Amino acid sequence: RGAREPSPEADYEAAVRALEEEGTRMVCTGRTHTDRLCRFQALCYSTEAGEFVFFHGNASVMLPSLGPRRFQPALLDLSSVEDHSAQYFNFVELPAGALRALPRPRFVSEAVLIANRFNPDNLMHVFHDDLLPVFYTMRQFPGLGPEARLLFMEGRPPGPHFDLYRLLSPHAPLMREHLGGLGRLLCFSQAYVGLSKATTWYQYGFVQPQGPKASILVSGVEIRRFAGFVAERLNATAGKGPPRGEGYIVVFSRTVNRLILNEAELLLALAQEFRMKTVTVSLEDHTFADVVRLVGGASMLVSVHGAQLVTALFLPRGATVVELFPYAVNPDHYTPYKTLAGLPHMDLHYVAWQNTKQENTVTHPDRPWDQGGIAHLDRAEQERILKSREVPRHLCCRNPEWLFRIYQDTKVDIPSLLQTIRGAGRARPGPGDPQTPGGLYPSKVKEARCRASVQGASQARLSVSWQVPWNLKFLKVKDVQYEVWIQEQGENAYMPYILNHQNHTFADNIKPFTTYLVWIRCIFGRNLLGPFADVLVCST
Ligand code: UDP
Repeated sequence: RGAREPSPEADYEAAVRALEEEGTRMVCTGRTHTDRLCRFQALCYSTEAGEFVFFHGNASVMLPSLGPRRFQPALLDLSSVEDHSAQYFNFVELPAGALRALPRPRFVSEAVLIANRFNPDNLMHVFHDDLLPVFYTMRQFPGLGPEARLLFMEGRPPGPHFDLYRLLSPHAPLMREHLGGLGRLLCFSQAYVGLSKATTWYQYGFVQPQGPKASILVSGVEIRRFAGFVAERLNATAGKGPPRGEGYIVVFSRTVNRLILNEAELLLALAQEFRMKTVTVSLEDHTFADVVRLVGGASMLVSVHGAQLVTALFLPRGATVVELFPYAVNPDHYTPYKTLAGLPHMDLHYVAWQNTKQENTVTHPDRPWDQGGIAHLDRAEQERILKSREVPRHLCCRNPEWLFRIYQDTKVDIPSLLQTIRGAGRARPGPGDPQTPGGLYPSKVKEARCRASVQGASQARLSVSWQVPWNLKFLKVKDVQYEVWIQEQGENAYMPYILNHQNHTFADNIKPFTTYLVWIRCIFGRNLLGPFADVLVCST
């Protein structure tokens, strides 16, 4: 060690002094607690109190400065699940002077992303709520990046899929229960708190029955980029699977509950119908890398509704997802995998099949409630559930009728299933005709102009012209059209026109001595609508 290099002790004392003087700094993005992510410098955590601590020093900032609204209901969501009261983040405030009465701080100098896992026992939740949001939050902030350390605060055991969380960073994730071992007062020099919700597509039904999120912001491009990363880290990329071109079908089976009772018959029937090899996989009998490798090369994935279907995100473009629903479970009401398959540019076909024959279902009324048992309910309620032919819409998460029905075992009626797959038309086992990802949108038309002329007391014309959008010359677009709206100033209504040329003279319904607003935009390939150019104001 060089003579001029400060000793760790001196560094440490300097760091403590800096913390005492400067305090914690926080700057967040987002206008509400549900879309907020925060960057902290010198965010501390008292393992004894089980609380994060914000020290007020002479350099402290707290943006947003919410006052008591910080508790209404919280500063931010720690998990990617929106506004879940068990997943809120907040901190306790102290004057920096309180440090003298607290245990000596232990500093964590590397950048840390702090978040909650939502349900680490369930594969769908692992991917949708944790892995994807963590992956893209790490890539949102340069202070994090793909090597950042993760700190999970939900306090649950690592769970059966912990190895998947390890793939996200070269550094092992920290868990809340590790923190006590690191020190009594930990201070994170660089901490980012919260998860991006940009990649989630489903809401689980806490306030309204489950369904796709109202505003989905992610496309198959980002999902597949992430899937490629995971496959790469697992050494399970498609190239390492069975030889390409030899289509095969994967039946993803569950071995504990929600069984397919005639799985062998199903395998045989699929193989015959589609003249393809058919293999079964399960989370119990395969490593996750094997699952990814097998699904990654499959033409079709067939499985009963359940978390294992999230592995559809590893399917190649053009493949088909066939989701089987037990008796009385309406496929339209439970669509996490349909929504995934249908994301723009995901390029998967999706087919739902439902068992409609009561004689083909096996119920389990005597199991524990969380596996669908109903013996704990009063007789009348049990009778009602047994007679019901469809589970009514319901909220998450303990609806006994839903659990009773979703944990049924099913004998799949093969002719009906094959009929459903055939009926879905394009849903042949792929790879079929994946749309080229990412049709690009036109930019604004350039040099838009308008000239008015009056012909006599009752006739007028508007001559409108413009130049092609700037980005057209870089693209191979065959089908270019223009949309022109002509709106009389002060009116809500407008006349829309679709044109193929870059100029047009409008004479119909154009009045003299009137002011018109003219809106012009370009359209590529009939459905890629560009932005309107600045409105033209044109008086006859
Ligand atoms: N699971 C499994 N095999 C089974 C039953 C469950 O691998 O026979 C997995 C399932 O994929 C999920 C977790 O166990 O990751 C919890 O399953 P649960 O039935 O609670 O949830 P669901 O699949 O309905 O989301």
